[in-house]
Amino acid sequence: MMVRFFKSGYCTSHSKVVDPRTSFVEIPFSAVWALIDLPDGGFAMVDTGYTEHFITATKPFPDRFYRWITPIQLQPEETPLAILKRLNIAVDEIRWIVISHFHGDHIAGLKDFPKAQFICTASALEEVNRYKGFRAVKRGILHGLIPRDFVERVHTFEAMAAKQFTDKYGLQRYEWEITPEISWVLLPGHARGMIGFEFTQESRTMLYATDAAWSHIAFSDHVLPMPIVKIFIDSMSAMENTWNCLHAWQKDHPNGEIFFTHCPKTKQLLDHE
Ligand SMILES: [Zn+2]
Repeated sequence: MMVRFFKSGYCTSHSKVVDPRTSFVEIPFSAVWALIDLPDGGFAMVDTGYTEHFITATKPFPDRFYRWITPIQLQPEETPLAILKRLNIAVDEIRWIVISHFHGDHIAGLKDFPKAQFICTASALEEVNRYKGFRAVKRGILHGLIPRDFVERVHTFEAMAAKQFTDKYGLQRYEWEITPEISWVLLPGHARGMIGFEFTQESRTMLYATDAAWSHIAFSDHVLPMPIVKIFIDSMSAMENTWNCLHAWQKDHPNGEIFFTHCPKTKQLLDHE
């Protein structure tokens, strides 16, 4: 099994939002996604990053607000389709797309993979089904990015997991037979039912904790983002609890590394083909 990381575009935010101790400068939030070689052939992606679909989906209101809040930069050669083409991977070889959560920067490419099956947690799916219009946009969900036949192709970890349990750090885990060497980890707080994963590659143990935090420095120092983020994150208290669990994991894995989707440190994982 091999896990590779790529980046498809970025949006900009402000450093003070991420870490209130810093000065007010614009910072990029790279839209990172992962590609997993499956033991039975084909690939799974974890999220998709940005694609042109994000521009299309944010033309009408109220979805337009989303692009105003997170203006994006995307080069044509950075889209997931362009990257896979350079890797000689056909679109149909993407058998699964794991959706960490339904924010636009994570799911903008779903429509580009008509043969893929999707998997997410039951609570993330419930959320996306429940909220429409402005209430969805406020929660970072753009329905324009979701394929028409999504309902027929989506599965939940709860239904598919061979095993689910809470580990000694308090993290809910799922074992999924499609990716036997990966442990899927529930990371509530930033978005309802958000998921990340733990794996070991070249004797390096990594926990890719998606959007559980935005900066490994702020996370290490237990500095939460500015309270304004409460507007669009699901639950600050759940997020703090997730941080405590991740800190307990880190303490027990002194050589283990935690990465977050939009953190600058994550750039070291990127596969520059
Ligand atoms: Zn997010």
